[in-house]
Amino acid sequence: MYDYLIVGSGLYGATFAWFATKAGKKCLVIEKRPHLGGNVYCEEVAGIQVHRYGPHIFHTDDEDVWRFVTQFVPFNRYTNSPLANYKGEMYNLPFNMNTFRQIWGVTTPMEAIAKLDEQRREIRELLAREGVDTPRNLEEQGLSLVGRDLFEKLIKEYTEKQWGRPCRDLPAFIIRRLPVRFTYDNNYFNDRFQGIPVGGYNRLVEGLLAGVECRCGVDFLHSEYRDWRRFAKKLVYTGPLDAFFNHCYGELEWRTLRFETRVLDVPNYQGNAVINYTSHDVSYTRVIEHKHFELFGNAVYGNPRTVVTEEYPVPFLEGMEPFYPVNDGRNDALCRKYKALADAEKDVVFGGRLAEYKYYDMAPVIKNVMDYWKADGEV
Ligand SMILES: Cc1cc2nc3c(=O)[nH]c(=O)nc-3n(C[C@H](O)[C@H](O)[C@H](O)COP(=O)(O)OP(=O)(O)OC[C@H]3O[C@@H](n4cnc5c(N)ncnc54)[C@H](O)[C@@H]3O)c2cc1C
Repeated sequence: MYDYLIVGSGLYGATFAWFATKAGKKCLVIEKRPHLGGNVYCEEVAGIQVHRYGPHIFHTDDEDVWRFVTQFVPFNRYTNSPLANYKGEMYNLPFNMNTFRQIWGVTTPMEAIAKLDEQRREIRELLAREGVDTPRNLEEQGLSLVGRDLFEKLIKEYTEKQWGRPCRDLPAFIIRRLPVRFTYDNNYFNDRFQGIPVGGYNRLVEGLLAGVECRCGVDFLHSEYRDWRRFAKKLVYTGPLDAFFNHCYGELEWRTLRFETRVLDVPNYQGNAVINYTSHDVSYTRVIEHKHFELFGNAVYGNPRTVVTEEYPVPFLEGMEPFYPVNDGRNDALCRKYKALADAEKDVVFGGRLAEYKYYDMAPVIKNVMDYWKADGEV
């Protein structure tokens, strides 16, 4: 008999297992994939750590979370500074003085502020003429936030590729904010702590799950563990929320990505870890060159080969990995109904991005588990 049966070995399940074990509880982790770690799992290809389910950059402002993860593995100094390629024109992201210089030729913050204000005026005046207070769709929202030039070159077609629909047909809430910086600073995140585990995320997961009994290739929903009370006092479920309840109210929608990964016989393919392709000309949204997550400067030339991955957004179909919840009105209403069922489940913890039907970065997932154990008073 276990204290906890933990379904899923992603960061939620693995962190939960660590805290439970520390509190003297006996855990069994079951994982339907053939490996542990969920979406942060890495594979070594051509001597390079490849983030198999999309690039993962750890970032947080929370010192407790940073201290927690760095006890298992040192983190490198990777700083996310993606670029955008629009029909061969290169722009720095997030929007900052470098981007404004590249798109408008302005060089001072005052010039950039004036230009941005002029760009936003068009949509402000249109909405005022039509007696509308707030943007009615994603196109109006994007134009209100950053004006036509930035919206059309760097947001519109990229977002349409991501969602498979024109921005005019997408709800405004998808982009609530578009950070704009009037400094020459290409660091994507504002957080104090950022990096990638040296040697890859598997080392972090191995640290979290050290000494914990784990079984891979076991799908909770189609195994004897479905009758979990026979095995454990409590269940921690990190799989999809609707699947736990046999989709009794219907299916929650997801978006996902298809990855095409190639090994190339060149030492440095694109000079950066992440390049967004923001026009319809190419159907992928990003190209990732994995070695730049772990090698910096001329160290990239130490390995004569490189690994690149193109990311293609696709609608979710049975058998794929669900990545991004579609938090529109229909799905949020459905999710509330499932959450009411979840609340009534005694002795089951629903946690993580699948069971909460919510996009979470890694640090908040870990924080949620830390808070759970603090509130429970067991650690
Ligand atoms: C493409 C992409 C890029 C991302 N990039 C970043 C980033 O740069 N920075 C960042 O902070 N966050 C990033 N994230 C978010 C990060 O992946 C999540 O925060 C993290 O994976 C959440 O962990 P989790 O345990 O909730 O989910 P998961 O990692 O998905 O783990 C859930 C596990 O449960 C297993 N499971 C599901 N159902 C069953 C079942 N029935 N039986 C057994 N096992 C089951 C799954 O196989 C999976 O291993 C990214 C996410 C995606 C999709």
